[in-house]
Amino acid sequence: MDNLEQNIRQLVEEVVNGMNLNLKNDVAGKGIGVYSNINHAIDAAELAFNKLNKISLETRKGIIANIRKVCTENNTFMSKMAQEETGLGRWEDKVLKNTLGINKTPGVEDVIPETFSDDHGLTLVEHAPYGVIGSITPTTNSTITIISNAIGMIAAGNSVVFNPHPAAKKVSCYLINLLNRAIIEAGGPANLVTCIDEPTIESAKELMSHKKIAIMVVTGGPAVVKTAMNSGKKVIAAGPGNPPVVVDETADLVKAGKAIVDGASFDNNLICICEKEIICVASVADRLKEEMKKNGAYELNEDQIKKITALVISEPGGPGNEGAANKKYVGKNADFIAKEIGLSVPPSTRLLLCEVGREHPLVWTEQLMPVMPLVRVKDVDTAIDLAVDCEHGFRHTAIMHSLNIEKLSKMARVMNCSIFIKNGPSYAGLGFGGAGFASFTIASPTGEGVTRARTFTRERRCTLVDFFRII
Ligand code: NAD
Repeated sequence: MDNLEQNIRQLVEEVVNGMNLNLKNDVAGKGIGVYSNINHAIDAAELAFNKLNKISLETRKGIIANIRKVCTENNTFMSKMAQEETGLGRWEDKVLKNTLGINKTPGVEDVIPETFSDDHGLTLVEHAPYGVIGSITPTTNSTITIISNAIGMIAAGNSVVFNPHPAAKKVSCYLINLLNRAIIEAGGPANLVTCIDEPTIESAKELMSHKKIAIMVVTGGPAVVKTAMNSGKKVIAAGPGNPPVVVDETADLVKAGKAIVDGASFDNNLICICEKEIICVASVADRLKEEMKKNGAYELNEDQIKKITALVISEPGGPGNEGAANKKYVGKNADFIAKEIGLSVPPSTRLLLCEVGREHPLVWTEQLMPVMPLVRVKDVDTAIDLAVDCEHGFRHTAIMHSLNIEKLSKMARVMNCSIFIKNGPSYAGLGFGGAGFASFTIASPTGEGVTRARTFTRERRCTLVDFFRII
């Protein structure tokens, strides 16, 4: 059967399945996998899961390869669409972010069986799919969370129902259709990924409580993590962070200044792992600031810091209090935010640098924008203590610039985070200029860390007694 005939057969089959499920309208109008009703989206994903179960691993590998190819071809278009719809970030950075996730999210090869053999024979542990996964995605990394989750979850043999952020619904529906087309073209079933065209918090809750949803994977702020953890289902939760970056007197300041601006201004600080506050040993703070300014940071004076704080913080965070940022300025360009306080800075400005005291709300609030507080402290141990406090126990991400092995080791240990980056920009911890694979769902509250295909599997053991130990 040639490709064309195979594609036509698939589409006809999907329409018939849709009619059986009374989904005719959904299948017809909105793109493959996009439904108006969450129950229909779940039913369709269940059918697709059952079909995937019968498909060879080679075909599954082909599906993942084609997802990577089609997403790469549509990357620029998608990135511009995401920026236009959400009003967040820089599309050029989104292209890089998508490229990272498309190429470095592990696929089928990540799901490796284990074996044990001893005097009693052979035991095999396989990593099986859960079934239909419910995934809730954020507006900040709207496309890449869906792409990366889809790659990992399908590679592990699951299907996925997405409830995207309402502010990113158009680009999410566009992407779901695109992913399904890539899957079908590679010989897979339609509706391996589905979503609804009008996602809401209510539809997210319906997803969480639906009996056909095997597990929930949520990527977002504290509210959605809390709701999902109370849903009674197994949850893989990727929650908020407030990553501190500590710089001590042994650091390579030229490298540190550039790395901090690059990491903290990437996509206007939208990624949960981006540097959110600098804690610097006093003796090198001025030199660090100079290096940052050479790389696109603009330092505000005391009066400007007061104004910008009033503008961007809606609920001041502090010790023991996470606070909240003003959503109007999340992911906006530095020059736009500066203009709002009557300050004109060059459009090339990447980061607004604010030297503040340790109790300042900018330090304690996860802002997700290119406004970067810097706190000067007397020594590296004081810096590490403050870093632990203002990370709020999220155990998400922390960064350190230092050449002192003992202090690097100390901070890694006491932060106890899913990701700890030494002497590089935060995004190196996601495999961008750092070793290792990528993911945009960093599950700190539930402990899976940087998620990957094998995270979305359940272990099944098969024991053969007395035979097949062949030595
Ligand atoms: P958000 O919490 O506003 O929304 C995330 C998703 O949860 C959306 O789909 C939203 O509709 C849904 N949601 C929100 N409240 C809900 C509730 N009470 N019940 C059910 N669903 C609910 O977050 P956002 O602004 O899109 O993203 C930014 C936040 O997400 C930041 O806190 C950031 O640190 C975090 N984040 C974490 C990771 C990670 O991997 N750990 C990745 C990206 C974003």
